[in-house]
Amino acid sequence: MALIVQKYGGSSLESAERIRAVAERIVATKKAGNDVVVVCSAMGDTTDELLDLAAQVNPTPPAREMDMLLTAGERISNSLVAMAVASYGVDVQSFTGSQAGVITTERHGNARIIDVTPGRVQEAVDAGKIAIVAGFQGVNRDTRDITTLGRGGSDTTAVALAAAMNADECEIYSDVDGVYTADPRIVSDARKLDKLCFEEMLELAASGSKILVLRSVEYARAFNVPMRVRSSYSNDTGTLVAGALEDIPMEEAVLSGVATDDTEAKITVLGIPDTPGEAAKLFRALADAEINIDMVLQNISTLEEKKTDITFTLPIPDRPRCMDLLSKLKESEGWGDVIYNDDVGKVSLVGAGMKSHPGVTADFTEALRDAGVNIEMITTSEIRITAVVRDADLAEATRAIHDRFDLGGDEPAVVYAGTGR
Ligand code: ASP
Ligand code: MG
Repeated sequence: MALIVQKYGGSSLESAERIRAVAERIVATKKAGNDVVVVCSAMGDTTDELLDLAAQVNPTPPAREMDMLLTAGERISNSLVAMAVASYGVDVQSFTGSQAGVITTERHGNARIIDVTPGRVQEAVDAGKIAIVAGFQGVNRDTRDITTLGRGGSDTTAVALAAAMNADECEIYSDVDGVYTADPRIVSDARKLDKLCFEEMLELAASGSKILVLRSVEYARAFNVPMRVRSSYSNDTGTLVAGALEDIPMEEAVLSGVATDDTEAKITVLGIPDTPGEAAKLFRALADAEINIDMVLQNISTLEEKKTDITFTLPIPDRPRCMDLLSKLKESEGWGDVIYNDDVGKVSLVGAGMKSHPGVTADFTEALRDAGVNIEMITTSEIRITAVVRDADLAEATRAIHDRFDLGGDEPAVVYAGTGR
């Protein structure tokens, strides 16, 4: 008997009707002879609505209380799905994250899973029941407080449970049929991919593809859990994410897709002395403040000789905090000005095929040139090229690259639901 973990996202659970449809699928999976563990996200846009509500009562709510609030979203969907499953006469039991043994760090709002002890879930499964687990939440052993795993964290819950329970596959259900060559909301002829290796999916997720949360893919790769991304609105078999980059035969390695990210800002620190240790000071300070930077560029300073300018990208929400920190450092270190720009976006081309295809960077940059898009920063890695462009140009840049590398399909991509929020 196979053990299947299924995770249903908010758009798959946005109404009572959808919850019943999901329950039907869960029951069918069980009746087909599988053991089934289900992880649910909150219904529809619940998490965003709870965040809005919190902001109305307190602009800076205590992090612990925020987690108490947000985890309620998953408990609602979780119990409703269990009720719907029970209505089919099937044995079912729901669990909160902490009941399911999801142990995390204590960092509210962005906790990491450090252990999963799914004893109760396993007992339920062994007793022939379908187990339903609330996603996105866990508990810290020291504080005994409830935590959340960061936005989109239910994917991580599902993969972590699948790893701990040795599941055969972790199915992630959302509102599209799988992983596409580009965001179908931007590129109308985006094509669904049948298979990707973990590294390709990691690069796509890290470059802004919202289909899977990055941490879940990191987890799946570390524990070798095959993930299948599919839709709760269709019977398409979706996209399988499994296997290592080095195991892809050269002739099968292709360019897989274009990812876009409009959530990053760019900061430039001008006039840093061009001597050993200065960049280290800058990046250590950011690391200590837990600011995750992405692309970095160091240039000869436009200000004076023997100075350099350092530019990097970071998530927009971290930008104000980062500017405060750098303004202080600038004073103490005697650096030049610190400037920022939120109106940037990143476009990335990802694929194992890049390793063996020469000239990809040339084609990439020509595609942007032909679309009249200026490149502000560019980096390449083994299987990815990323350019920072004006965010007004992002959609056009994405379409231009997608076209240039012939990634499109014949049928228009379908987006079944979701508000895109
Ligand atoms: N409901 C949470 C969120 O919207 C977790 C999830 O959807 O995975 O971020
Ligand atoms: Mg969500």
